[in-house]
Amino acid sequence: MSQLFRHLPSMDQVLAGLCAVTEFKSLPRPLVKDLVNEFLDVCREEIRGEVLTAVEQLSLDALLPRLKAYVRAKARPHFRRVLNGTGVVIHTNLGRSLLAKPAIQAVAEACGHYSNCEFDLSTGQRGSRYSHVEKILCDITGAEAALVVNNNAAAVFIMLETLAKGREVIVSRGQLVEIGGSFRIPDVMTKSGAVLHEVGATNRAHVHDYENAINDETGALMRVHTSNFRVVGFTKEVSQPEMRALGDKYNLPVIEDLGSGTLYSLEGAGLLGEPTVQQTVAQGADVVSFSGDKVLGGPQAGIIVGRKRYIDRIKKNPINRAMRIDKMTLAALEATLRLYLDMEEARRTVPTLKMITASQDALKSKARRLVDAIRDQLGDRATVSMKKGMSRVGGGAFPEYDLPGTMVTVGVQNISVGDLKNALLDTDPPLVARIEDDLFLLDPRTLTASELKLAASALRQAVDRLTS
Ligand SMILES: *Cc1c(COP(=O)(O)O)cnc(C)c1O
Repeated sequence: MSQLFRHLPSMDQVLAGLCAVTEFKSLPRPLVKDLVNEFLDVCREEIRGEVLTAVEQLSLDALLPRLKAYVRAKARPHFRRVLNGTGVVIHTNLGRSLLAKPAIQAVAEACGHYSNCEFDLSTGQRGSRYSHVEKILCDITGAEAALVVNNNAAAVFIMLETLAKGREVIVSRGQLVEIGGSFRIPDVMTKSGAVLHEVGATNRAHVHDYENAINDETGALMRVHTSNFRVVGFTKEVSQPEMRALGDKYNLPVIEDLGSGTLYSLEGAGLLGEPTVQQTVAQGADVVSFSGDKVLGGPQAGIIVGRKRYIDRIKKNPINRAMRIDKMTLAALEATLRLYLDMEEARRTVPTLKMITASQDALKSKARRLVDAIRDQLGDRATVSMKKGMSRVGGGAFPEYDLPGTMVTVGVQNISVGDLKNALLDTDPPLVARIEDDLFLLDPRTLTASELKLAASALRQAVDRLTS
């Protein structure tokens, strides 16, 4: 055995062999060296374990295919593109919304060049970074003023910290939600210094519940979108117009956390009962917050719109500086918002809206193309078919609505659906799929047209690996 160790190729031989391959030439040399060392250690371990037992197994030529696979897998970036075959459009774990093409271009432009990020080109003096999106946000939503922070969680925090610190905020018990990832309305409120005053029962709250709770300590009235759950049956929540009337009567600001928020009415897509941001503003909410990367389909951001006298106070809050958005976010947000100046254009070009509102015919035709692509790759090794199924909007938006569509099911003899799903996490690119009723499903709604072939290729890679 000790003889065998000496037959392992040397570091220099291995490096020369590896770097003759174009794909590895551009990798940082020290990284490749570390990985080769690790790989040689694995080989030594296998000699000790009598996995490698013959001199021929130890030649560079014999080891090179494994070595390449090892380096390829370990040297690739940690942050990677994946294919979303789940049908959850705003999948928080998969990065939420895809940006529209103009927004992608705007980001590239913003980060590759200097810009007027905080520079006023009409005076040559320092400008405000928020000026790039405030007017367009006001034009679209009808609000007097607007401010953008890092995400909606930050927006909720800064609204409360500014308008209600040390004061009571009245919220319906049915709206004290946990959004996931440890964002709970009661906790955020505590951290902001506002004091939560719960009213109503879990399923019902009335105007008189709020009115009875108002006292000298009251700083604001608040409504929170229940995003990811739904109370059904005997329920009642107080509407925004009712809140407005109460706010006027007692001279209190009305805060609304819309969660996802939408600028485009999705009633046409069958998603009923969701007021748009425009409607919420028109109904009299003083400050309204919503996410940039949920249904809006833009970059991660927390958008606050509302009355100037409140927004001005929020802008001046020193915490605002700690929640400041980056120039790439600004560029992407402005480009996305410009698409909303023509609502139909937004529906056609903002990927999130396009996926949510895709027609049954379009989804079926995409499913057919996916089936063809998979058959091209796997031939008779797989059974591929289509069936009706449901997608989800996701992102804590419209939880009560499934979106009907056409799914593609794939079955491979002697491979379990679970093994197939797991093997797809290690393909290039990885493909995230769904298992439902013991069936392996891909939902073409969340795969773009150019990704259908990639998904099929990922399936072949997975099946190849599982059957080799
Ligand atoms: C998603 C959500 C948030 C948090 O928004 P992020 O943009 O993820 O920070 C806050 N409130 C509600 C009601 C939400 O749905």
